[in-house]
Amino acid sequence: MEATKRKPHRNWPGYQTERKHGGTYAVVVDGREAWLDTTEGRWQVICSEHGAILSATSLREARVWMRAGTTEWCDCCRGTCTDVLYGASCISCGRA
Ligand SMILES: [Zn+2]
Ligand SMILES: [Zn+2]
Repeated sequence: MEATKRKPHRNWPGYQTERKHGGTYAVVVDGREAWLDTTEGRWQVICSEHGAILSATSLREARVWMRAGTTEWCDCCRGTCTDVLYGASCISCGRA
């Protein structure tokens, strides 16, 4: 599969679908095909900008989180990633 303008992450292993949210994408992949940790669920929703991963037990659930937007489960998109860093800057988004 070729990466396209509308679906730039189509070449990711296990790719299912994706949706744009502002400057980032919520990408749904099959965790088994992508060799990701599937202990919390087979289907993974990934923030393409920050690499945050949310696990879902069904593809349907994964799609719900994809549509809900990255601010629902990505700390960097939500702006809360530095709350636990105690002064260090975030390695994922660079926020200090
Ligand atoms: Zn961050
Ligand atoms: Zn994010």
